[in-house]
Amino acid sequence: MSKITDIAVIGGGASGLAAAIEAKNVMPKARVVILEKLDRVGKKLLATGNGRCNLSNMDMGSHHYHGSVKNVMRIINGTPTAKEFFGSIGVVCSADSKGRIYPRSNSAATVLNALRLRAKELGIIERCGFETNFIESTPDCFRISSEKGEKYPCKRVIVAAGGYAAPQFGTDGSVIRLLRSNGCHTTKICPAVAPLRVRPELLKGLKGVRAKGKVTALSAGRILKEETGEIQFTESSLSGICVFNMAHLISQYDGKLTLRLDLASDMDMEQLVGYLRIIQYQRSSCTLEELLTGLFVRNLAFYLTKRALGKPLTEPISALKEADLRTIAQLIKNLDFEVLGSAPWKEAQVTSGGISGDCVDEQLQLRGAKGIFLCGEILDVDGDCGGYNLQWAWSSGIMAGRCCANSLRGALL
Ligand SMILES: Cc1cc2nc3c(=O)[nH]c(=O)nc-3n(C[C@H](O)[C@H](O)[C@H](O)COP(=O)(O)OP(=O)(O)OC[C@H]3O[C@@H](n4cnc5c(N)ncnc54)[C@H](O)[C@@H]3O)c2cc1C
Repeated sequence: MSKITDIAVIGGGASGLAAAIEAKNVMPKARVVILEKLDRVGKKLLATGNGRCNLSNMDMGSHHYHGSVKNVMRIINGTPTAKEFFGSIGVVCSADSKGRIYPRSNSAATVLNALRLRAKELGIIERCGFETNFIESTPDCFRISSEKGEKYPCKRVIVAAGGYAAPQFGTDGSVIRLLRSNGCHTTKICPAVAPLRVRPELLKGLKGVRAKGKVTALSAGRILKEETGEIQFTESSLSGICVFNMAHLISQYDGKLTLRLDLASDMDMEQLVGYLRIIQYQRSSCTLEELLTGLFVRNLAFYLTKRALGKPLTEPISALKEADLRTIAQLIKNLDFEVLGSAPWKEAQVTSGGISGDCVDEQLQLRGAKGIFLCGEILDVDGDCGGYNLQWAWSSGIMAGRCCANSLRGALL
């Protein structure tokens, strides 16, 4: 068995690295070890923001977070901003026109490299290839066991093992299940920040199409959320940031969610009908194929005309009646898709649900097991797309690391 460690951090992702660094900053003499299941820490981080790492956002607010942890903003406001935290480890950050914060290098590798350099400088030990499968509480310490039967005794534990999303980066929910078997309760778990599945027959001809528009999520006719941006169509799902941000609603409205696309959100109904009248006049010698090609890419133009009118595209534009123009405009502004569910975990970026907020105190310490702290996506917090999830990982990691280290005062060897 290894020498007793002061703090063992389970999971070397975003929140685990932040937690370990903060714990060591607060308690430089503490022996801090990161136990990571994969062959290296921070693999998921490298894939974030399409390799650019959207690490935070200028517009922080509770409306960007969902889940049962009540004090998310208190934790975020009680820890350094991402710019301050990364500035302190040499990473210069800047925001784009939408307020999304990236490293100035536009490279996620810069972020991971800086975290690892700081961890190394502080003497934090990375123990990779250690897949935690048991946490035992003894009268003297905690004992963390791995799949291979290794045991790690420690005085405190920080659990930063993530959720279920993107299992290709090591996160398969195994530690959530482990905590559940130890008495923690979980909220409903489903993919968030993910494409949403709809009936594939309704997407025929649209695969690969991208369009700007407004997405409205509705349940039983009630508007739940609206967002504008680029909508992407795949063979069986709707995608794009504004769709991703609706995925967390599935856990509440499972089976009763509709996405309404307004593909001309910059025009009102009368402006759109007026535009169609002009096109009908200008292109009077053309077939229906040319009715919407000034508004949309060809595949989408054909799809909308066919779905609205149910007529062959070889018919002349001149034969359209005023009512037909209104039917088309109506569909362009109200293209409805019933949501069948979200895309599988490997396509999701975040986990909605997790260890319930009731299970941890203000310091993110488990109420039922003093000495064990939780941070990051393992908790029931999910943020919108745009840097909110990494901000939660940094802030909750720093808070857990700080409180965990403080709880050790007077207990160091
Ligand atoms: C493709 C992709 C792009 C993303 N882009 C962004 C973005 O640009 N901005 C943003 O804000 N968010 C983004 N996210 C979400 C963000 O990456 C996560 O919310 C964040 O990484 C969660 O941090 P975490 O520390 O809780 O978990 P993770 O970063 O997932 O780290 C958990 C670690 O624990 C390890 N682990 C798991 N089980 C065990 C075990 N049993 N024993 C030991 N170790 C274990 C895992 O291998 C992993 O290294 C993205 C996610 C994905 C998948």
